[in-house]
Amino acid sequence: MEEIIKFIVSNGYGAQEPDANQAPDISDNRIGVKSLVTIVSGIFLALGFVINWIADDKSYATYLFAVAMITGGYYVYRSALTSLRSLILDMNVLMTVSSVGAVFIGEWSEAATVVFLFSVGNMLQASTLEKTRKSISRMIEMSPREARILSSSGTEKAVPVNEVRPGDTVLVKPGEYIPVDGIVAAGFSWVNQSPITGESRPIEKTIGDAVFAGTVNNEGFLKITVKREAADSTLAKMIDMVEEAQARKAPSQQFIDKFARYYTPVVIIGAILVVVIPVVFLNMPFSEWFYKALVLLVISCPCALVISTPVTIVSAIGNAARNGVLIKGGAYLEALGKVKSIAFDKTGTITTGQLVVTRVVTVGGVTEKQLLETAAAVERFSEHPIAKAVLNECNRAGSDTPLSEGFISYPGKGARSSIEGRFIYVGNKRLMEELGISTDQIITDEQALELSGHSLVYVSSDESLLGLIAISDKSRHGVKELLVSLKEAGVEEILMLSGDNEAVVSRVAAEVGIESYAANLLPEDKVKRVEELTTKGVSVMVGDGVNDAPALAVTTVGIAMGAAGTDSALETADVALMNDELSKISFCLNIGRKTLSIIKQNVVLAISLKVIFLILTFAGISNLWMAVFADTGASVLVTLNGMRLAQLKE
Ligand code: ADP
Ligand code: MG
Repeated sequence: MEEIIKFIVSNGYGAQEPDANQAPDISDNRIGVKSLVTIVSGIFLALGFVINWIADDKSYATYLFAVAMITGGYYVYRSALTSLRSLILDMNVLMTVSSVGAVFIGEWSEAATVVFLFSVGNMLQASTLEKTRKSISRMIEMSPREARILSSSGTEKAVPVNEVRPGDTVLVKPGEYIPVDGIVAAGFSWVNQSPITGESRPIEKTIGDAVFAGTVNNEGFLKITVKREAADSTLAKMIDMVEEAQARKAPSQQFIDKFARYYTPVVIIGAILVVVIPVVFLNMPFSEWFYKALVLLVISCPCALVISTPVTIVSAIGNAARNGVLIKGGAYLEALGKVKSIAFDKTGTITTGQLVVTRVVTVGGVTEKQLLETAAAVERFSEHPIAKAVLNECNRAGSDTPLSEGFISYPGKGARSSIEGRFIYVGNKRLMEELGISTDQIITDEQALELSGHSLVYVSSDESLLGLIAISDKSRHGVKELLVSLKEAGVEEILMLSGDNEAVVSRVAAEVGIESYAANLLPEDKVKRVEELTTKGVSVMVGDGVNDAPALAVTTVGIAMGAAGTDSALETADVALMNDELSKISFCLNIGRKTLSIIKQNVVLAISLKVIFLILTFAGISNLWMAVFADTGASVLVTLNGMRLAQLKE
């Protein structure tokens, strides 16, 4: 944040850190003041030219030009002073030196034109930058200020959202914004979650479903149990992250900043030499070469170059956020433009992750109901999608889950908990093997055939197997389309990684058309696979961000799906897809590629315009105001070009 503020201020704009408790006033009214002084400056400049043309006494025109300089240059000169005081040579300094220098050799009209055009350029840039930041301000506006809570006496009371505490009950009428993150306690409705997830289709919400602050309740009346304080809501986190991301510098920008730091002093020395060498050693006229040096100073202004990358990245990140995709910095955005390989987690990514129990097989005298209840007692503490399936099945059968304690999970294998002093294990074959429990006898060949392609979850005590639960999962819609678009985007290697058994993984792979896959992986094996991919080029891992966090962390870009409401996913991933539409993955790659190419276009544009004008100056063709015009024009062009990204559609 500090960095971006410094950057903005050093370019002569106003900026301040947003106040966390108060929705920041994004519209900087200094932009208004600056436009006004620019317009005033323009009027005096025009008058100056007219008088200069019609009046015999040129001194009147000089006064008008002076006024144009002071009005148009007020902010420029002020910023230049600030920069000089901290020993920074920036474009404000360059512009100040060249306009004052022009006055020095009596070129008042040129001096005023330089200042006016520079001021116009600044104004245009400030307002476009502001426009790109609007995408965030729109999100902030969406944060409701008030919530209607149900007090203990049963009456409704409107309170500011930051007074709402977890556990409170909030009432939301049809058409209202949902003010907090919570769980539906009563009611049924359709909720438009597009502010968070980017998906426009309303989502059905009923008892037990999670809802988010900033989304819109369409038709039903909802009673919501508050889960988080307003400051911790998913929307609040998104806003923070987008702002942070936009402030974080991408590699190409770091390079340009470094470049600009050495470049400006070099240019100033060059300009001094342009005066000294011809005048002192070659006896050429002073004012002619002084003028050339001033043009050189203006031309060398790296304005367009410096602004080219940030404006592009801010636009892209803002656009992505509006589409429910949180990209946590320009570096990831650039990496997404160069992806060579993608690894997908199976459960919850390629498959829906909404698993269902299809079959329960028991051993000895255990009943199916008992087996499910026992498994559920362990799984109630687990975050794994399998756990959810077991609990759902248990609920459906109307059973109560007994209490268990001392839950621990074995990532990639299963979990354990203790019921009435007895350890119960729930997990895959690998876990059973490690416990020394044989799983051979439990299913007949006939059943084995029937269950092939299912995930098998074994339930056991310390000594013996109690039974198994077969679980099936559906692959998501759109995997095939995604694979096609990834190949088109130049992704060379596509891999599916899973901790599930070979039979299931190969079935899913065949079903969706993924050629390479690996099964029976422990989390550390996934990490190893992903590291291998990363050595070969930019790699992406797509997972749920909960039990895939280690693998997401080692890829160039870790993408978490369905991150809304899952704090760990939002925080660990480099890119968080708020919903779980697969098409967002190609959107990410697409916007990454566009960003890269626009940054390249901008850099080429900025540099080549400079080179052209440099040549023109020494050929004696260009003059001071043309140079400023070129500089301003280039800045505006790169800004507009960068802003195209704000419009990019999925
Ligand atoms: P994936 O997401 O690729 O399926 P995981 O590493 O999440 O891989 O899990 C691998 C396997 O470990 C699962 O297929 C399952 O057999 C077993 N497993 C993990 N956690 C649990 C759990 N809580 N309950 C039952 N089985 C589990
Ligand atoms: Mg998983």
